[in-house]
Amino acid sequence: MKSATAFIGVGSNLGDRLAFCRQAVALLRADASIELKAVSPLYETAPVDFIEQGRFYNAVLKIGTVLLPEILLEHCQEIEQRLGKNILRPKGPRTLDLDLLFYEKNIFQTEHLTLPHPEVENRAFVLLPLSTLAPDLLHPSLFLSIQALCARLSESQQKGVQKYLETGWEKDEGSMGCFK
Ligand code: ADP
Ligand code: MG
Repeated sequence: MKSATAFIGVGSNLGDRLAFCRQAVALLRADASIELKAVSPLYETAPVDFIEQGRFYNAVLKIGTVLLPEILLEHCQEIEQRLGKNILRPKGPRTLDLDLLFYEKNIFQTEHLTLPHPEVENRAFVLLPLSTLAPDLLHPSLFLSIQALCARLSESQQKGVQKYLETGWEKDEGSMGCFK
């Protein structure tokens, strides 16, 4: 089966945030139906929407997969559960959040999945990491590139997203412990 290209947003703001992000990458890499193609730098970001919570670590991953979008989301949700996603309130603190940002040029909405992710164009913590991997990627319904969407972010939105670790951050597994 031909593999599809997709982008996944990773976020954590509870507990050992770096370890959770690393474990998420490791578990996606270990999934035989997913090929990890690129990992953005890791960013430390100010919470948005519900701002009375800790800062997040965020990154974006590019993958190839033979999974259909809904099944890919299920695989991501299994990883969230495995790493103890424990949401007290929507948009609130969480050990790990995996969002399916884009899946090829798919545009659709079902009960469980909206593609592209409906907040992509509003979120600096998604757009800035994504722009390091795919600046020319076109948002399939807005017809704007990631670079162009970044340029629309306000200065304060951009300031809230600071690079914390360069590409390769996911490879140091020293502090990962045993999660299998
Ligand atoms: P948020 O990430 O917005 O803070 P959650 O992680 O709790 O909230 O996700 C809530 C729901 O969003 C999930 O049950 C999932 O089915 C749904 N959802 C819809 N579209 C997407 C998408 N593109 N990526 C991830 N989850 C999505
Ligand atoms: Mg989510």
